[in-house]
Order: sequence, then structure tokens, then C-alpha cells
Amino acid sequence: MSDVIFELKNVKKWFPARRNLGQLLSGERKWIKAVDGVSLKIKRGEIFGLIGESGCGKTTTGKLIMKLMEPSDGQIIFNGEDVTHLDKERLGQYKRNVQMIFQDPYASMNPRFRAVDVLTEPLEIHGIGKSKAEREELAAKALEAVKLTPPEDFLGRYAHMLSGGQRQRLATARTLILSPDFIVADEPVSMIDLSTRAEILHMMKEVQQSMGLTYLYITHDLSTARYFTDRIAVMYLGKIVEMGYADDLIDKAKHPYTKALISAVCEPVSGKVNQSKEVPIKGEIPSAANIPEGCRFHPRCLYAKPECMQGEDPELQEVENGHYVACIRYKEIEEMGTSWR
Ligand code: SF4
Repeated sequence: MSDVIFELKNVKKWFPARRNLGQLLSGERKWIKAVDGVSLKIKRGEIFGLIGESGCGKTTTGKLIMKLMEPSDGQIIFNGEDVTHLDKERLGQYKRNVQMIFQDPYASMNPRFRAVDVLTEPLEIHGIGKSKAEREELAAKALEAVKLTPPEDFLGRYAHMLSGGQRQRLATARTLILSPDFIVADEPVSMIDLSTRAEILHMMKEVQQSMGLTYLYITHDLSTARYFTDRIAVMYLGKIVEMGYADDLIDKAKHPYTKALISAVCEPVSGKVNQSKEVPIKGEIPSAANIPEGCRFHPRCLYAKPECMQGEDPELQEVENGHYVACIRYKEIEEMGTSWR
């Protein structure tokens, strides 16, 4: 069996932009390039972090992997099988293997459902368990796996009777109950109390290790990503600009955008602001309907030179073992000693 569970090959998701009268009359088309050529490989059994500011395309990438939308171009491979376009039957099998944990577990649960209903519903949908009693037994086991114990204390509770952390545990239990291979966790702790975040991530990691799962962890928060993930890809305006092993990427960031993100990070445990030298970033993220020519980061990059503003957008290239960067000046920047540390 290949050690790669997921592969995205030049995946794009473009949405048609609203047109003004002039564009309508001239027939001009504009596209919002939410995901604009993402290629990556996720290894079996790892936690892969996808990081970036809001609007960078990371959630759309998660939705493409979840098959909640079809890509405009490119290929998605899961367990060696091309799953870019699936018929209804294969989609059902796929959705059993690839599950999602949402940012807001409360919004993703029917308020009239007790925990036992939340957990047994996917089993009924997928025809798992011969009887109600068997399904309830599986529900109790799933609660034990996420440490909502004793399960009989929780099975009869409604979501509003649980704390934020307990709800996220229940949401995790619901994804586990179908024994998936792969879980997309989209900002799973961003709506949880700061004091409970580490606890929930720790629980998710324990479950991942004991069940041999693979996670895609989508977040804007590099501080949790460092402690939670094995590898990280940094996304900017629909493309990956840097990718590498978590510690390596954060300790030896090469792309000016990654450096800028890191400079603003708070230590997750102490909550202290990173005291390292700040690497600034100019302005706001541009619209995905107007991606700049040349390197798409150039209008915000303090190291931009004329050669960055023309020609092709730099491609990701491996510059050290397992460390990839999309910047034509990364070496010069390194030699200038402009590391934020
Ligand atoms: Fe900045 Fe140029 Fe590197 Fe782009 S290619 S990140 S503009 S230095």
C-alpha cells in the first residue's frame, strides 16, 4: 500500500465573478480563483496542516477534498483511486472513508437530537449495525474514544447541555463512528475556550494515533499547527507558497509570507506574543478575482524586485529535504540575514 493517502494534482476551483454592464456587453469573463493550482501529497498516518489567512483558499481546498464541490480543473487521488468525479454510489462509499470535523459543532448538529441520535444517525444512513442496540453500543464506544465518560452520562444529553469542548468531542466521536481513514478538521478549536483548546487537540491526536488516522488540519493559527501537525503547507491567494515539516517550516521559514505569519504568532500555552523580530507585511490580501502578475505575493512583499512582478508565478521547488518554497529570491533573502529570529 502506498504511503500517500491523498494527492492533489494542480487542483483549481474558480468561480465566475459578478460582471458589470460593460463586461456583460463585451462578453468579458472574470474568475474568482479561490484555489489556483494546488498540488500536494498527504502521507498515511500523518497530520497535515493547511495554514493561511482567511480567504486564502484553505477551506475551499478542504471542501474539494470532502467532495462538497467539484474542482474546475486538476485531479484528486485517494488511496490510489482517482476520485475527482464520482457517481452517487462511489460518492457514498467515499464519504464513509473521508469525514469532516467542522469549526462550529453546534451548528452542525440537530438541536433536537440527543448525543445518541447524533451518533447513530450516520450508522443508519450507511446501514451499519444490525439493531438499534448494536448501534447504541457503537455510539457508547465512540464516546469512550473521545473521553466523554461514562458514556451513559452523555448519550441522553442534547448539544445545548454540553460545553464547547464536550461538543467538539461529540463531533469527533461522530466522525469516528464510521471508522474513516481520513478526517478533514476545519478550524476545529477556533470556537472553543482558549483553556480547552490544547486538551481537545491532545484528544484528537491520541485518537489519530490509536486508530491510525490521517488528518488534514485547516487553520489560520500557526501556533496550534506547530504542536499538532507533522507537516504544514502555507497557502496564499489560492496557492501553496511553502511546505515542509512543522518544526522545520517554522524554525527555518523561507518565504516572506510565512515569515510574516510567524512573526505575529502567540505562544499557545503561555499566550505570550513571540518576541522575535517582526517581519512586516504590506496591505491587505488582494481579491482572488484580481491576482497580481508575476509572484502573486509581490504587492505585499518587502523583498519584491522588478523581476518578481513579471513573468510566471514562482512554482514550489524543493530547496532542502522535504522543504519546498515558491520564491525566486529565498536564497538572497536568507543571505541578507533577514530571518525573523
Ligand atoms: Fe517576495 Fe519576490 Fe519572493 Fe515573491 S518572489 S515572495 S515578491 S521576493
